[in-house]
Amino acid sequence: MAEHIRKPDWLKIRLGGNETFTQTKRIVESHGLHTICTSGKCPNMGECWGRGTATFMIGGEICTRSCKFCNTLTGKPLALNPEEPANVAKSIQLMKLKHAVVTSVDRDDLPDQGAGHWVKTIQSIKQLNPETTLEVLIPDFQGNLELVDLVIEAAPEIISHNMETVRRLTPQIRSAAKYDVSLKVLNRIATKGTVAKTGIMVGLGETDEEVYTLMDDVRAAGVSVLTIGQYLQPSRKHIPVSAYITPEHFEEYKSIALSKGFTHVESGPLVRSSYHAEKHV
Ligand code: SF4
Ligand code: SF4
Repeated sequence: MAEHIRKPDWLKIRLGGNETFTQTKRIVESHGLHTICTSGKCPNMGECWGRGTATFMIGGEICTRSCKFCNTLTGKPLALNPEEPANVAKSIQLMKLKHAVVTSVDRDDLPDQGAGHWVKTIQSIKQLNPETTLEVLIPDFQGNLELVDLVIEAAPEIISHNMETVRRLTPQIRSAAKYDVSLKVLNRIATKGTVAKTGIMVGLGETDEEVYTLMDDVRAAGVSVLTIGQYLQPSRKHIPVSAYITPEHFEEYKSIALSKGFTHVESGPLVRSSYHAEKHV
């Protein structure tokens, strides 16, 4: 059965523990912040935190959605922390980040779905860190383009929204998001002149043809940066891995994506949306 496929050697996790790793941990924890690195059990924490970088997760740590692949807590979220924007900005300053990546849980419970909190966070970061380029990985805001526009107008350098998987598997993998709504959000970002980025996981049962169709769909929407990584099952409660894609296969995805006109492509077993994000500016 799929859940018994053995994890191949190329997915061995690199452990952290250097001084910079400890310092990153201290900054994140002392400001009461959340990161997708820990919430998502990211296999790259040793490398990223050891280089002094992390991806902040705003809006609290409880998501209103429950995607089948995601390790983030789900349920009824707490009230927004009004100090979170300033705390994220301060942490970015302390970490001396040249490029910062921020994401959020989905806040379908709020009238503005968290868009206002996003704007405050972007403004605080930019005010305190004028030299830092900023990438924000946003929810679909249920396809409400006025809310997407609020984030665009706050002027982060890159706006990312993940497709996560191919069209056929979207209803099984993502709890509320729709393939075409995500394309619409990405198209709005690109049309307004901001760099649009998306990420997918493979190893969920998709075919190569479906992956190439997704590449065509997001290119047509205006996306220029693509990340492709291996899905890893965070726990037995999550959807099982269908296949471990080989590093050579990831290279093939990369060269095909580049031939389709993406300007930056990260494709590899341990690639995550925010992996090596500084290269995409
Ligand atoms: Fe965090 Fe992204 Fe690095 Fe993973 S790849 S540790 S989520 S910054
Ligand atoms: Fe995870 Fe889905 Fe919530 Fe995003 S929307 S944090 S992928 S549960």
